[in-house]
Amino acid sequence: MAKIEFKILKDYGALSEYGDVYFRYIDWNGYEKYDLRRWSDDGEEPYKGITISEEELETFYQLLQEGTETITTFTPRMPLKTVKLGKATAKFLIEFGSFGENGNMSRQLNYIDWGHGAKFDIRPWNDDHSACGKGVTLTKSECEKLKEILETEFEYGEQEYGISFEDFVVRGNIFRCSKNHETETIEAMISLLTSDGEIVNKYVTAGYCRHCNLYFILDRDYQNMRTVGVPLCKTISDGYYMKNGIPFDGSVLNEESMLHSIGYTVNAKDDLSRAQRQNILSFAVETGLYTVNGICDFLDWRIDKAQRDKNHDYRSAISKWTEDREYINKYKIGTRPLKGVKSLKRKIVR
Ligand SMILES: [Zn+2]
Repeated sequence: MAKIEFKILKDYGALSEYGDVYFRYIDWNGYEKYDLRRWSDDGEEPYKGITISEEELETFYQLLQEGTETITTFTPRMPLKTVKLGKATAKFLIEFGSFGENGNMSRQLNYIDWGHGAKFDIRPWNDDHSACGKGVTLTKSECEKLKEILETEFEYGEQEYGISFEDFVVRGNIFRCSKNHETETIEAMISLLTSDGEIVNKYVTAGYCRHCNLYFILDRDYQNMRTVGVPLCKTISDGYYMKNGIPFDGSVLNEESMLHSIGYTVNAKDDLSRAQRQNILSFAVETGLYTVNGICDFLDWRIDKAQRDKNHDYRSAISKWTEDREYINKYKIGTRPLKGVKSLKRKIVR
């Protein structure tokens, strides 16, 4: 085996108090890479680990962020799948995603139990997880430490606020919380669903109430965004909000305002494309906001109500509802990956 020459160019430090996993910047045979690895007790001899390129680092950070946040609030019990690799068995509890490709291997962060309890696992895998390369496993506190290093050294995180599908946005003429909390002014990113069914991310100046976890945007900005696409978040008008507060509980589908608040409409005036309408519904299902059955029930109720209304011509609306009902009724969860809809963190702009 060719001798591996390495030179530690920068040491960001050990991730645990026992000090065997280090995050470093290393020159490996002339290639400079960030490096996450176990080392001998004296920190001189490299054991197993993984290198991370400059381009991969931010995505890697975001996965870590998502991973540690998820594990803080959720304890997975049932493995998604169990994979046998020689003598070892990997129980995949959560798959967080990939931060880079290397040949036919994708470099992933997963939450895996290799038989000694669940840990964060960072290594390359092939498509069906039947083969893997070398990597490291980290405890939650080691991940937190690594995250902290990346935040301090690379200024990742705490930069942007992403408004996501779960969030409520009040649109009106001023930023005001009905409970008189102080709102912060932030730059927030909103994902918009275009008429082609594509997702584009836009930044908008928003108010944020930390206590209510509620966003406020100007009606003018909302109208501007609507010319690009439907915002993928729950939007309610200032008037509705001041009168009723936040429509609590996503399961209340019998209120028309609920589906409407996530941008779903069959009005000729709003002119949503079929892709837009159906994508909104699938996002609602993917994010767990509504169930497929819940949406079908709601659409049935709407269609029935419209058919009995003799005063208006609902033919066009009914045909769209019917079409959408058929679509969502056949919809399989996991079909529409939530790619492009980022949930980023806050940046306070004063
Ligand atoms: Zn508030």
